Amino acid sequence: MTRYSDDLIEEIKTSNDIVDVISQYVILKRSGRNFFGLCPFHKEKSPSFSVSPDKQIFHCFGCGVGGNVIHFVSKIENLDFKDTLELLANRANIELPTLSNFEDDKKEALKAKVYEINEVTAKFYHENLYKPTSKEAQEYIKKRKLDNKTLTSFMIGYSGKFDELYQLLKSKGFKEEEILASSLVNKAENGKYIDRFRRRLMFPIKDIRGRVIAFGGRVLDDSKPKYINSPENIVYSKGKNLFGLNIAKKGDTKKIIIVEGYMDAISLYQRGITNVVASLRNSSY
Ligand SMILES: [Zn+2]
Repeated sequence: MTRYSDDLIEEIKTSNDIVDVISQYVILKRSGRNFFGLCPFHKEKSPSFSVSPDKQIFHCFGCGVGGNVIHFVSKIENLDFKDTLELLANRANIELPTLSNFEDDKKEALKAKVYEINEVTAKFYHENLYKPTSKEAQEYIKKRKLDNKTLTSFMIGYSGKFDELYQLLKSKGFKEEEILASSLVNKAENGKYIDRFRRRLMFPIKDIRGRVIAFGGRVLDDSKPKYINSPENIVYSKGKNLFGLNIAKKGDTKKIIIVEGYMDAISLYQRGITNVVASLRNSSY
């Protein structure tokens, strides 16, 4: 079953001020920064139930209950988490996605698998880079003077031959539908599978949360196209992402430098300029 996203839960919380909500059940009086009232969860004559508008939490000094607005409503209305969210969303006029939508569930499950495939693939390419059979890639890296810290920070890798990735993914138990949804493997008309990226230097593209969402691959000889990228798919849309953003966001983000290609961003990073990202729109060919 799908669950509501963290972002949505946060939105529901911030749209329901805890003092407003609790005031519907308890008479509150302000005292300093906080509000006090008679605890609805135990019998008492003098108020030991406090609500903090700053922290958006409640706490009873008598019986020890406490929490945020969701906890309060859940407890006083005797509702489970899901029903509490529905009540609060309704109160704040927030529309909730339907939980029973089977197609949505299937899509979310497929997305999760594609993220997993991307992670496995990035690791496979990265480890492949260090193998004796990857001389071509190692020489390129030496020429571009990329050090080990840079290679691991960006998880730079080297893709295999023919259907090596496909075989690996199969052996890990991924289904055909999942592998094809990742766009990392193509199915030819004759029914054979072939890896999209072969013998290319590989740059995993991560979203701001650090999940691998796509790859860019550079040839190491003069063949064309020089770069190919993952096409848009269930987890990847070009316009919404920037290469290196997951790394750049860790540093000074008041100014961000946007460069054209992966290697531009990576070279600058190695020289200590870490607030740099590459656009994913122009680097295809
Ligand atoms: Zn109490």
